[in-house]
Amino acid sequence: MKMIFLGPPGAGKGTMASKVKAAMGIPHISTGELFRDNVSRQTELGLQVKSIMDRGDLVPDDLTVAMVKERLERPDAEKGYILDGFPRTIPQAEALAKIVELDCVVNFSCSDEELIRRLTGRRQCPKCGRIYHIAFMPPKAEGVCDDDGATLSIRADDTLEAVQNRLEVYEAATKPLISWYTNNGLIKTVDASAAPDAVFDFVKDALEI
Ligand code: AMP
Repeated sequence: MKMIFLGPPGAGKGTMASKVKAAMGIPHISTGELFRDNVSRQTELGLQVKSIMDRGDLVPDDLTVAMVKERLERPDAEKGYILDGFPRTIPQAEALAKIVELDCVVNFSCSDEELIRRLTGRRQCPKCGRIYHIAFMPPKAEGVCDDDGATLSIRADDTLEAVQNRLEVYEAATKPLISWYTNNGLIKTVDASAAPDAVFDFVKDALEI
């Protein structure tokens, strides 16, 4: 099954994609993760996109589409995949429509207030990558990773300023995709403001799995 997880940053698309990946045995392809991997390896692409990502702006469509096309050509994507965070603009959706026929688009709906609470409270261990949340999943000792004692950090694009920009970018560039895919008859909307187990139930219903 080839599917897209559409929705604003912080709606839990990545968390749900990991669960669907485990349930269905298909790859979870997150363009944000692919870009972050390039940034940490300091590839040419990574150097090009780092400051764009830190501000919460979108990477240009040509770079993004080329990266996704290459990823979809890998053998593990043959039987299906979950695209998380792509497409984010109409031109990206048009480019995707030329190369694949999608089975489903899951639209994650959540209030801005809840998204800001989720994203600005997120903390990450720079050593092992473990994610915490100051309110929902705090470490045992404030600001310190339970596993290795490293000082937790805030992702550059999780500061209040960058989060507000990401939400504005979502409204302007990505939200129009909801009507685009509604016209294609592919979209199923889930309430992403609920607790993770409930959201996963909604997603399973939407995918009929
Ligand atoms: P995410 O982890 O999905 O929130 O993505 C993190 C950042 O990567 C975004 O704020 C953008 O800067 C960049 N990014 C991810 N996916 C895309 C995309 N489809 N188009 C453009 N930029 C993207």
